[in-house]
Amino acid sequence: MSEKAHGARIIDGKAFAARLRHRVAAGVGQVLAQHGIVPGLAVVIVGENPASQIYVRNKGRQTQEAGMQSFEHRLPESASEDELLTLVHQLNADPAVHGILVQLPLPEQMREAAVIDAIDPAKDVDGFHVSNAGLLATGGDGMVPCTPLGCLMLLKDRLGELSGLRALVLGRSNIVGKPMAQLLVKESCTVTIAHSRTRDLAAECRRADILVAAVGRARMVTGDWVGEGATVIDVGINRIDAGAGKTRLVGDVDFDSVVQRAAGITPVPGGVGPMTIACLLHNTLVAACRQNAIAIPV
Ligand code: NDP
Repeated sequence: MSEKAHGARIIDGKAFAARLRHRVAAGVGQVLAQHGIVPGLAVVIVGENPASQIYVRNKGRQTQEAGMQSFEHRLPESASEDELLTLVHQLNADPAVHGILVQLPLPEQMREAAVIDAIDPAKDVDGFHVSNAGLLATGGDGMVPCTPLGCLMLLKDRLGELSGLRALVLGRSNIVGKPMAQLLVKESCTVTIAHSRTRDLAAECRRADILVAAVGRARMVTGDWVGEGATVIDVGINRIDAGAGKTRLVGDVDFDSVVQRAAGITPVPGGVGPMTIACLLHNTLVAACRQNAIAIPV
């Protein structure tokens, strides 16, 4: 069954992300006009990971398109953790840089946690710093991780009020599953977090009004796991063999069977993926405003 046949059920993350980027660009224009500030995002990439190179290129382009300054720093695969930490400290001290993103994964000689902890929490636009995780868990105003923030925006746009809905988050990583669950708790959903040790996962999923899949397993969630009328957010990005030497991207959700039962579903690609970069731009604008104690225009 094609995506077109289910038009009303598709949650179009690509279109929403384009609107969000326009709102951010307008906010950037306002902050420049009223306060003379140009928000700046520094992206640090270590090594030659091809997927990371593509992400970083896209981030740089979209940052500039939003009217922000984009700073790109490249270190060789052989760089030491100390070299990276020195760079992070320089960026922390640079007033033109309001957001810092260190592209993961890092080479094995570097400890990701130590590097993330070195980023000034106010500039941690990925929201991975333990202070920001703590603020999210305790209801404070920290930086919220981009992918779960994007998922929440799509859910609120589709469903409006989320209060009282039963949500199932499949996956408990620090970058997606846990912050997603925290955001849904904040919206007064009744939240279950499922993972590899969950018993009768299908039954847990079927009870959910909102199902967010962030497992990293191609098409694991099938139609019989999804309750009639549920809203399904597919975070997964899995590259599979498409035959004839080609590959293609699929999510953690089996789109063709789930779309028959769900009231709303994000496709892959074109769902959560574009929201992640748009939310990074959003977070950079928020960070610039907070650092200068000015109102946030988005
Ligand atoms: P992780 O590998 O860090 O976490 C995966 C989670 O899924 C773990 O909690 C794991 O459980 C759980 N899990 C794995 N296998 C099963 C299973 N068979 N049954 C139940 N639970 C299982 O992944 P991430 O959170 O980093 O990413 C998840 C997916 O989202 C990936 O496909 C990734 O590519 C994608 N992603 C997409 C982004 C976007 O911009 N759209 C951004 C970030 C990620 P346990 O903890 O017990 O091991």
